Amino acid sequence: MSETEIYCQSGALLSSFCVFAREKSLSGAEFAYGIPGSVGGAVYMNAGAYGGEIKDIISYCDVIDENNEIKRLTPDELCLSYRHSSIMGTEKIIVGAAFSLEKGDKSEIKSAMEDFMNRRKTKQPLEYGSAGSTFKRPEGSYASLLIDECGLKGYSVGGAQVSEKHAGFVINKDNATFSDVMSVIEDVRRIVKEKTGYDLECEPVIISDKM
Ligand SMILES: Cc1cc2nc3c(=O)[nH]c(=O)nc-3n(C[C@H](O)[C@H](O)[C@H](O)COP(=O)(O)OP(=O)(O)OC[C@H]3O[C@@H](n4cnc5c(N)ncnc54)[C@H](O)[C@@H]3O)c2cc1C
Repeated sequence: MSETEIYCQSGALLSSFCVFAREKSLSGAEFAYGIPGSVGGAVYMNAGAYGGEIKDIISYCDVIDENNEIKRLTPDELCLSYRHSSIMGTEKIIVGAAFSLEKGDKSEIKSAMEDFMNRRKTKQPLEYGSAGSTFKRPEGSYASLLIDECGLKGYSVGGAQVSEKHAGFVINKDNATFSDVMSVIEDVRRIVKEKTGYDLECEPVIISDKM
């Protein structure tokens, strides 16, 4: 393992990894500061923000495969692309991953992380519960732009609402149920398709429609 590489267990918080990298004056993970969740989830989703993604910094990933064997997967084997990895649709469990960073200046790393966090706080409805960006970015446009253009900011069903602060987020405004959230998502997809022709795809993974 080189001096600029960090190995993380999959259950570590992504933000803790970013803080650890900053403390070691290692640059490259700043973009991930503020993305909620674990290192395992971030690799699975190829999480990304502000022009960076896990794909850019991962050097390998350890998994328990379908035969209960530990395997080390290369970036090529992980096939990381926009919110996609080859782990999806398999029974593999990510146990850890190594990230390759670069020597940097601690205060510059710190200010980049703070800048990204401030941008989130200003633009995203973090004061409400949500699953993050509800829709993937469609080729050639932005989900929030299309939703806003269709006049859907503030659209709500029950306690779920298209955020007035950022149209890309469906928020829990007031005791929303799963069914409220799914109704808003389905209505937004239908109306955006009718008015603009774009098919919006859900970014969060819907595990079951039976709640
Ligand atoms: C306010 C907010 C802002 C967000 N901003 C961003 C953003 O900027 N960019 C972005 O990419 N995402 C964003 N997200 C979405 C989410 O935080 C990320 O996708 C995150 O990486 C998911 O990690 P998690 O640990 O929460 O995974 P979970 O949501 O718990 O799981 C996601 C998937 O990964 C699988 N998984 C998790 N861990 C493992 C493992 N160890 N082995 C195998 N499979 C595993 C799960 O089974 C599930 O299918 C945001 C979410 C919120 C609420």
